[in-house]
Amino acid sequence: MTIQENKERITENINRVCREKNREPKGVNLIAVTKYVSNETAKQAVQAGIEHLGENRVEGLLEKKEYLTGFPVIWHFIGTLQTRKVKEVIDHVDYIHSLDRLSLAKEIQKRTERTISCFIQVNVAEEDSKHGLSVKEVLPFVDKLKEYDKIKIAGLMTMAPFTEDESLIRNVFSTLKQLQADIQDKGYPHAPCSELSMGMSNDYVIAVEEGATFIRIGTSLVGKEF
Ligand SMILES: *Cc1c(COP(=O)(O)O)cnc(C)c1O
Repeated sequence: MTIQENKERITENINRVCREKNREPKGVNLIAVTKYVSNETAKQAVQAGIEHLGENRVEGLLEKKEYLTGFPVIWHFIGTLQTRKVKEVIDHVDYIHSLDRLSLAKEIQKRTERTISCFIQVNVAEEDSKHGLSVKEVLPFVDKLKEYDKIKIAGLMTMAPFTEDESLIRNVFSTLKQLQADIQDKGYPHAPCSELSMGMSNDYVIAVEEGATFIRIGTSLVGKEF
């Protein structure tokens, strides 16, 4: 399967769910996660018309960005971000999907002159293997972030457990959607929280059904080379 064919299949699935749910397909943004592929394959994704690329390591993002100089890419940092690496990457990202602690917010605030769009990462299923705040920690965290004028809370991000249990996955995504509504009810200027970053290769259809606005797809879109 070529990247173009994968993109068409994924786009058809998104369009079908949007028809069923009365959603506008344009409201679902496809991020190609390029962490498992070469610079050249990332370039093919961009040439296939994908506007959003995601990387989970600072080095990987910087290398791909340099390789793709001149291409109009929107860059997403989707991995755990070490505080000491913020200064290297902050001028090169459009969105950070992994804001999960105040020390990271403090460092972002210190290292940039721009407003950075961030997603708060939520560990909805409270898995030990995953980063992110628990659901109950999120509202107090959002409240504290009003002190940080360089940070805009664009939305919430989660990773569902790797499981065959579709109802568990759906429950994780719908919990994130409910949490988004709770934040939006507060009407905070710093936290419009209009976006939901959820859904990967195995579960993006469920995520779009439950309201995802950014889906992050690696393996089933650009493949896995290493
Ligand atoms: C790797 C990764 C993805 C993409 O995973 P696939 O299963 O290959 O689609 C999405 N989100 C995050 C945070 C990742 O680390």
